[in-house]
Amino acid sequence: MLTVEQALEQILARAQRVETERVDVRAARGRVLAEPVVSPREIPPWPNSSMDGYAVRAADTAGAPVSLVVVDRIAAGGLPTRPVGPGETVRIFTGGPLPEGADAIVPQEDVDGDGGQVRIPRAVASGAFVRARGEDVRAGDRVLEPGRVIGPAEVGLLATLGHSPVLVSRRPRVAVLSTGDELADLGAPPGPGQIPNTNTYSLMAQVAEAGAEPINLGVAPDRLEAIEERIRWGLTTDLLITSAGVSVGEHDLVREAFVRCGAELHLWRVSMRPGKPITFGTLGRRLIFGLPGNPVSAMVTFELFVRPALLTMTGLARVFRPRVRARALAPIANPGHRRGYLRVTLVREGEEYGACLTGDQGSAILRSMVAADGLAVIPGDTTVPRGGSIEVLLLRELP
Ligand code: AMP
Ligand code: MG
Repeated sequence: MLTVEQALEQILARAQRVETERVDVRAARGRVLAEPVVSPREIPPWPNSSMDGYAVRAADTAGAPVSLVVVDRIAAGGLPTRPVGPGETVRIFTGGPLPEGADAIVPQEDVDGDGGQVRIPRAVASGAFVRARGEDVRAGDRVLEPGRVIGPAEVGLLATLGHSPVLVSRRPRVAVLSTGDELADLGAPPGPGQIPNTNTYSLMAQVAEAGAEPINLGVAPDRLEAIEERIRWGLTTDLLITSAGVSVGEHDLVREAFVRCGAELHLWRVSMRPGKPITFGTLGRRLIFGLPGNPVSAMVTFELFVRPALLTMTGLARVFRPRVRARALAPIANPGHRRGYLRVTLVREGEEYGACLTGDQGSAILRSMVAADGLAVIPGDTTVPRGGSIEVLLLRELP
């Protein structure tokens, strides 16, 4: 049986980059940047005032208190009509361009008088309250590197530079197929012997959360031809996920269906709990995953294998979830040889985090997934004592 790391290595080595496309900056949030961004301009484009006040020649204020004659008025969006000479000052507002001759701003609350003449009580240093040309961005600066997610700050910077449209990775398209004679799909109340279809929807949501586009292939019964037919429907996508039917039972037909569609299978079982029977293969450049059927196993194997593969396909530099260390608030046992990915809730304890199991760790206990802030990574045959330090892979923001 492969370790999780060995399986991941096999998978990521086969995850190929999707193409790129240009999108308007207003639609770019959440996309992966696919080009370096070089600034064509200086930001700010000219020196300007960071305060409402008076633009002065700092040297004039050396012998403060001094009186200066107000010779002009500049608001944001306005332009100076004349330079500032010795003994002169200009009324200026935040964002207003610094007039020639001036090299400092005296905030209005520090100035006595208003109107034609003002009194500057204290000397000011050259550059005070002036935002220099190019202090944020210089023309020619490489301000963004490819492989990062475009968030609100990146959107702001791109808009400031007028860099729109922007080159991003195309969203991978991901087909999701559930298999099983027992499944009643959403909208159809389960009949005798049936259970509701969970996996199609949790997996599609995970696909969307990873920035990809899910495509629902519905539910296939446990018949080889039916599964094969649905898999073929999904072959226009970049990646295909099935759930269930990958164990060794006589109704477990997914692997055979993959092979009949022409897939090459690379791995089958991974030493982890939950989720041992996971199949991974390729069909051309397309990745195919046969995930286990139990809802928690399907979600956890998606997290560990499919998500990093999808993010690698988009060119993202950071494809793994962050991990934190936490203290076990009660003993955590992982009997058996397989590494455990156990669902835990985190609580903040001063500077540290405490972790406790979400309850029953059965792979069909979906509510334990709802309660989980992360997955505690526990080696096989290990019991972590109360207070022991554990590593937790974060599934959501820290509490
Ligand atoms: P299997 O791998 O086909 O033996 O399925 C393992 C378990 O997962 C069985 O109890 C199935 O009923 C259950 N299961 C399979 N597919 C789904 C699904 N789409 N939603 C919820 N449970 C499922
Ligand atoms: Mg089954």
